[in-house]
Amino acid sequence: MEPIELVVSSVQQEAPGIRGITLIRASGDPLPGWTAGAHVDVEIPGGGHRSYSLVNTSDQADVTTSPSSYRLGVRLDEAGRGGSAFMHLLKKGDTLRVSHPKNNFALTPTDDEVVLLAGGIGITPIASMAAELRAQGKRFRLVYAARNRIGLAFFQELTRLCSPTLCVHCDDEGGMYDLRALMVSLETQPLYLCGPTALIDAAIALAKELGWQEGRLRFELFSAAAPSEGDTAFDVILSRSGKRVHVRADQTILDALTDAGETPNCDCRCGDCGLCQVGVIDGLPDHRDYYLSEKEKSSNKFIQICVSRSKTSELTLDI
Ligand SMILES: Cc1cc2nc3c(=O)[nH]c(=O)nc-3n(C[C@H](O)[C@H](O)[C@H](O)COP(=O)(O)OP(=O)(O)OC[C@H]3O[C@@H](n4cnc5c(N)ncnc54)[C@H](O)[C@@H]3O)c2cc1C
Repeated sequence: MEPIELVVSSVQQEAPGIRGITLIRASGDPLPGWTAGAHVDVEIPGGGHRSYSLVNTSDQADVTTSPSSYRLGVRLDEAGRGGSAFMHLLKKGDTLRVSHPKNNFALTPTDDEVVLLAGGIGITPIASMAAELRAQGKRFRLVYAARNRIGLAFFQELTRLCSPTLCVHCDDEGGMYDLRALMVSLETQPLYLCGPTALIDAAIALAKELGWQEGRLRFELFSAAAPSEGDTAFDVILSRSGKRVHVRADQTILDALTDAGETPNCDCRCGDCGLCQVGVIDGLPDHRDYYLSEKEKSSNKFIQICVSRSKTSELTLDI
């Protein structure tokens, strides 16, 4: 689907380093509807895009079914390559090209209580989940953890929306959030989590240790692991054309293929959504994704090319 041209209608400081950006059509016409957990891909000058979750803190369903605007919450990433810095320079009247909403992190219907956990900027999809559950009259509780109280973006709105089920945790008041205590206390409830990779990794490890059923822990990653020390270069061979593409030590397979003129599918670029998955014909993948199960990883039949690499000097892929 063609990207949509949108105009910045307002920009607001939501917390230090976090900006709220509201986008509308120049015509004022309604935008495509979306469900909680959805994001849009914003085109960044110079090519590429960055994904931003759609934010809603209203319990009125038509805010998302027939929206007049999209609201984003963007944290400035000082260590980033410029996407968030670009978003932080936007001002009222600027135009952007934005994808239709996509959702890899939707709520699964349940009559059980739903537990929502947000760490820092991970509040963006989680806030929308709270709003959707409230609009549906479903039971939920929201835990919102941040480094300190002034870092809690959308706090007033969330207090109104979630009270009395909002539980706030600030590291500077109570130390690191006790994820184990939360997860041990749950009986059968599903847990939806968005936050720093370390928090997500800890939750995955705990879910495994506690014997949680597959799918009970749901999460969305906002950033891929940075290239790690010791990564080496390798070649990818495209089985259908026989083309050989060199992947540098500081490059992903996805980026190397794109630079070589290929157009691989992708979305999250974090190894989380499964869209860039391709078949492996020969060679040994170095799996670094959050999408494949342990069993699928050990079969070595598929690879998520946005984050995973190769343990062998050549990797032949079914593309
Ligand atoms: C589905 C989804 C939803 C998202 N929603 C939001 C949201 O609501 N709000 C929000 O603020 N962000 C959100 N993000 C993150 C957002 O898309 C951008 O990644 C973020 O704004 C940083 O962009 P950047 O260009 O400044 O940094 P990037 O260049 O994207 O780098 C981000 C971080 O990744 C690491 N990194 C990984 N690979 C490399 C590399 N090769 N070189 C350098 N650094 C690397 C760095 O540590 C860096 O700090 C979302 C991401 C996804 C996938």
